Amino acid sequence: MTGRTGLPRVVVLAGGVGGSKFSLGVRTALNRRADAEAAAPDPFTIVANTGDDLWLSGVRLQPDVDSIVYALAGVNDTVRGWGRAGDSERVNHELQQWGAGWPWFTLGDLDLGTHLARTGWLREGLTPTQVLERMSARWPLGARVLPMTDAEVDSIVTVSDSSASAGDLDGDIERPMHFQEWWTRHRAALRPLRFDNPGIGAAVAAPGVLDAIAQADVVLIAPSNPVVSIGPILAVPGIRAGLRATPARVVGVSPIIGGQVVRGMADVCLTAIGVETTAAAVAAHYGARSSEGLLDSWLIAEEDAASAAEIGRLGIRPVVAPLWMRDAATSAELAEAALRAAEF
Ligand code: GDP
Ligand code: CA
Repeated sequence: MTGRTGLPRVVVLAGGVGGSKFSLGVRTALNRRADAEAAAPDPFTIVANTGDDLWLSGVRLQPDVDSIVYALAGVNDTVRGWGRAGDSERVNHELQQWGAGWPWFTLGDLDLGTHLARTGWLREGLTPTQVLERMSARWPLGARVLPMTDAEVDSIVTVSDSSASAGDLDGDIERPMHFQEWWTRHRAALRPLRFDNPGIGAAVAAPGVLDAIAQADVVLIAPSNPVVSIGPILAVPGIRAGLRATPARVVGVSPIIGGQVVRGMADVCLTAIGVETTAAAVAAHYGARSSEGLLDSWLIAEEDAASAAEIGRLGIRPVVAPLWMRDAATSAELAEAALRAAEF
C-alpha cells in the first residue's frame, strides 16, 4: 500500500530536539526516494507533542512545535539547539527589567514574534491546528505539522519537595510545577513522582491526526523522550487505539544508545515511571503490537545489538542501525533505515 507517487505515506510522532532532527532526516529520505522515482513526494505528517506548551507573559509558547517548524524551515539555531538562528534578546532583557516572565527562561526576539503572532490568532478564535497551518505556510516545510490535540494539556511534574534538600524525610510533601520549570530551571534535578497532563482524558486528537494514522503505510516513533514527548501524544484519547488499528507498520527509534540518553535528561523521566534507561526497556514500555502494544519494529544502536534477542522475545522486530543523528546525512540515513524497517 503506498501513496499517490508509489512512496510510503508516513506519519512521525515527535518531540522537540530528537523529533525535529529525525523529521529532517525523514524529509531527506523521502525526497531521495521521490527523486529515484522521478516523482514529487506527498508531504508526510508530523504529529507534534504539545505537552511542553505554556502561557508566559501573556503569550502561548509551543516549544516542540516550534522546534520542528524552525528546523524544517532551516531557521533554527543549530548551535544552541533551540530557538531561531541569529536571534537577539532585547525584549527578553526588558521583560526581566519588569520582573515579568521567568528569569531563567530566555525568549529570543524573533521567537517572541512567533509567539505574538500565534497568540493573536488564538485570540481571534483560530484553533491551534489552524494557527499551525497558517504558520507552516510561511516556509516550504515539506511536511504537514499537526499538534497532537487542540486542547491545552500542559505537562505538570509533581516533585517530592524533600528531594530539594537531601536528608529530609522522604516523599511527604508533593509540589506540582509546569514541566518547563522542572526541566529548564531545575534541570530535572528535583525527583519527579509523576507526570500528568491535566484534562488530557477529555481531549480529542487534533483534526487530521487519526485520519493520517489510519491512512499511513508507516508510522515512525521518533527518538524522542518516551515519557514527556511521546507519552503525552499516546495519552490523547484515540491515538493509541489508532496506532493499534492502523494497517501501517509502526516503527520506533530508540532514544537510548548504550544505556545513555544521548542528549537531555530522559533517564530521570524514565526512572520516575519505573522504566530502565535501556533500549530494550523502552521497547518493552511501548510494547509489541502483537500483544497490546504499539511496535512492529524497533531500531537499536550497534552498542545495543546484544539486546536484540530480548526485544525479539517481546514480539518486536529488532533492527540494528547507526542511531546517532550527528548531522543532516546521519539523520537521513537513520530515517531511511527506519523506513526500511517497515518493509517486511
Ligand atoms: P525535546 O522535546 O527537545 O526534549 O526533544 P525530544 O523529546 O524530541 O528528544 C529528546 C530525546 O532524543 C533525548 O532524550 C535523547 O534520548 C534523544 N536523542 C537526541 N539526539 C539523539 C540522537 O542523535 N539519536 C538518538 N537515537 N536519540 C537522540
Ligand atoms: Ca519537548
